[in-house]
Amino acid sequence: MRLVLLGAPGSGKGTQGAVLAAHFDIPHVSSGELLRGHVATGSELGRRVRTFLAHGELVPDDLVVDVVRDAIASAGDAGGHVLDGFPRTLAQAKCAFDLAAPTVAIADAVIYLDVPDDVARERLTGRAQTDRVDDAPAVIEQRLEVFHAETAPLLRFYEQSGLLVTVAAEKPVDVVTAAILDALTERQR
Ligand code: ADP
Repeated sequence: MRLVLLGAPGSGKGTQGAVLAAHFDIPHVSSGELLRGHVATGSELGRRVRTFLAHGELVPDDLVVDVVRDAIASAGDAGGHVLDGFPRTLAQAKCAFDLAAPTVAIADAVIYLDVPDDVARERLTGRAQTDRVDDAPAVIEQRLEVFHAETAPLLRFYEQSGLLVTVAAEKPVDVVTAAILDALTERQR
């Protein structure tokens, strides 16, 4: 099973990504976590991406692609993947097809976790995640803006590819998971 999760910051990509990865026994690949890992270890790449993350701006495509390339390439061996946070721009989506093309398709389905901005905002300000510098209120606004400007256009792209599954994501975690699994079963019919 190859899944891509799309959604605003605070939509629950990380949470659902972990649950779905466990359910299907496939790797959960979070571009944000991979990038934060590089920042934490102070790698060369971490130094280059730190400021983008801190300001809620997108990391340049070539750097993000470097970070996720291996994970995508090994999706075939791993039985699939749950991609969380990548692709995030149209350019990345096109690149993702190319990265995956030699082995497998990038996705059987793209799941859009649909939440109103005020719910996303509330969740992000409410979570006591002191280790995320980008959870400061001004940066949260920036991340929401970037989502609407750069990532929301992907919805149309994936809808046209027949891959998009939209799930109302303001409900409790287990209700959202059940809705995703139902939608995936429905697609396989
Ligand atoms: P959220 O969706 O809540 O903002 P993520 O962990 O997915 O959380 O992303 C955090 C930050 O990591 C983003 O604001 C951005 O700076 C960077 N990032 C993650 N994935 C990408 C990507 N595919 N392209 C560019 N930047 C990314």
